[in-house]
Formats: sequence, C-alpha cells, structure tokens
Amino acid sequence: MKKLISTPSRTKKILDQFNLRAKKGFGQNFLVDPVIVEKCASMAHAESAVIEIGPGIGSLTEALCMHAKKVIAFEVDKDLMNVLADTLSDYDNVEVILQDFLECDLEQVVTDLKQQYGSVSVCANLPYYITTPVLFKIFENLDISYITVMVQKEVGDRFAAKPNDTEYSALSVEGQYLFDIKKLFTVPGRSFNPSPAVDSVIIQFSRKENDKSNQEIQNFFTLVRACFKQRRKTIYNNLKEYLQDGQLATQALEKAEIPSNKRAQQLSIEELERLFEVLQ
Ligand code: SAM
Repeated sequence: MKKLISTPSRTKKILDQFNLRAKKGFGQNFLVDPVIVEKCASMAHAESAVIEIGPGIGSLTEALCMHAKKVIAFEVDKDLMNVLADTLSDYDNVEVILQDFLECDLEQVVTDLKQQYGSVSVCANLPYYITTPVLFKIFENLDISYITVMVQKEVGDRFAAKPNDTEYSALSVEGQYLFDIKKLFTVPGRSFNPSPAVDSVIIQFSRKENDKSNQEIQNFFTLVRACFKQRRKTIYNNLKEYLQDGQLATQALEKAEIPSNKRAQQLSIEELERLFEVLQ
C-alpha cells in the first residue's frame, strides 16, 4: 500500500521522482506531517464540497479527498500538474485547476458547488506571500461557511487583534465582523519541507449570522480599507482622501462621534460601522 503523500519519506520520493524543488516565489512549503494534515482536514467541515488553494504535491488534498464529496484545488505552478495527476490518481472526487486563485471566478465556482453539494468550505495551507488578498477574496463570498487555513503566526495574530494593538488592521476588522475566529493549533516549522523560519497556525473562521446584503458588506469593507489605507494618517485624512471632500469627512466623523484626530487603528468595529451608517 502507498504511504500518505504527507509522510516525509513519500514527499521526498515524489520530489526526487519529478526532480522538483520547492519554489520560494510561489511560497511553497510542503506539509510533511500526516497527523497535522489529517487533523486539519477532519476539522475543516469539508464533508460536502471543499476548495483548496495551492495543493502543492497533494498532501492536504489527499486528506480532503478522504473527507469530502468533492475537492476543487487551484494551483498556479504548472510544473505541479503532472505531479498531482500522478499523486492523486487514486481519487476521482478531485479537480485540479491550473489557475492563479486570485484570478478565478470564485462566485461561479461556489455557486456551482453549492447547487450540487449543498455547502462549501475552504481548507488550505496558504502561500504566505498572498495570504491577505486570498483571504479578502474568500471573505467576499458569503456562501462559504467555514474557512480553515494555515497561515504564518503573525497573520494569525492579526485576527485576534483588538483596537490599539499593532497587528489591528483592515483584515482584523473584516475577519471579526464576518466570522467567529478560532485558533485550532500551532504548526511548528519542522512540519514543512522546506522548514520556514517562523511557526504557523491553523485558524478557523465560522461565518456569523448577518442580515446585511452582499453589496452593503462590500461597501462597508471598501470604507474600512480606505480608513486603514495609510495607517499613520488620521481617520480624517484617510476619509477626506476617500470621499474627496474634507467638509463631508468632518461632518461624517462628528455625526458618528469619532474624534477626527484618531487613527483607524484605534477604532472599534462598532465605530467603523457607525461611520458607515452615517455615510449611507
Ligand atoms: N498544500 C500544499 C501542502 O500543504 O503541502 C502546498 C502548500 S504551499 C504553502 C502553497 C501552495 O500554493 C504551493 O503549491 C504554491 O505553488 C501554491 N500557490 C502559490 N500562489 C498561488 C496562487 N496565486 N494561486 C494558487 N496557488 C498558488
């Protein structure tokens, strides 16, 4: 019987067989810890359909195939296509798409999967260089109920950050506004090949009830990103630039009872929501 892809010896064999080296430019760190891989897949609410970003040589994908009815995996590195065709050949419930995830039509993919399988979740060991845009893109899709991702520890900290913390950012606000966020566990650098310098964490986002329309949420997030655009600037300066109108910015801040000399980093989600309501 074949060993799991995530065992260190099988990973090494695959890398040798295909003469592969992890590409730094694509943020490639392959998971070589079957226990972590299984724990991650089994906690991902992946029973129906699951989307993976960056299957690599297929370690997490394999575990997801064992749990889910359907796995869709987006991989940007064309050199991995024949590797995945080989490593995942025993599974008929997986589709690997050669595409930059940031360019895919996620709405369409999720709508199709939801129609066919009922619910859609995301599970991935994210490439560190695009963690933020990938998460922003996933957050925008309100039909994804659970997101379970492995990220660098610092990124994980941002989701727990509160106003005035250094890590508090637009990503923190959006994440906490939409989801209950739980840190599942820490993954040491030695669980990867090659080992990154920093530890990673697996965090899980479970979508909160929200009565706002998709459009309203997007508009709120556009405002949040504008408020955090230049972190050192005051909320007034960022808002003035966004609205292209200083007077309007002053009035809105007054009405929302937010001192104009504060910075976005000092504002709670409630204050940002109040500002959004006023501008509506
Ligand atoms: N899932 C594998 C594992 O856990 O061993 C690999 C994880 S590795 C950290 C990240 C993967 O994402 C790599 O396979 C990399 O090629 C892929 N990747 C990088 N940028 C991507 C993008 N824009 N769209 C899709 N995949 C991408």
